[in-house]
Amino acid sequence: MKAFDCKMCGECCHGIGGIFMERDEQIRIARYLGLELEDFLKKYTEKRNGRIYAEVGAEDYCIFFKKETGCSIHTVKPARCRLWPYFPANVADRETWDAAKLACRGINRECSFEDFVKESLSCGNGKK
Ligand code: SF4
Ligand code: SF4
Repeated sequence: MKAFDCKMCGECCHGIGGIFMERDEQIRIARYLGLELEDFLKKYTEKRNGRIYAEVGAEDYCIFFKKETGCSIHTVKPARCRLWPYFPANVADRETWDAAKLACRGINRECSFEDFVKESLSCGNGKK
């Protein structure tokens, strides 16, 4: 039984974004979209607190999220998106993991915190 299995609901792509991108990620995504870095930054990102974040798009979803097909940059999406729900806080603390279950229906309620932590060590999830 898997401790996490993405349901493709898109909930983690919704809301005022905390999806920041490091420089190498910005370059990779720009290239994937066939854009010069500067054009990519103007069109798809915003700067907050000195960091570059994915812009929020329609209905407050991440600008890269498409309702029918999910993440439009799946193969090059930022590390933060690849990691969820195995964020360090979620695997370090049982209460944070409990809270994460409310936000992500892909986290299996029938599995234990220990199962989740164990699975995180071999994660390579194929979500969205
Ligand atoms: S990771 Fe969780 S919240 Fe995000 S799409 Fe998958 S099931 Fe939904
Ligand atoms: S980059 Fe993709 S996976 Fe990450 S929040 Fe945006 S749509 Fe979701």
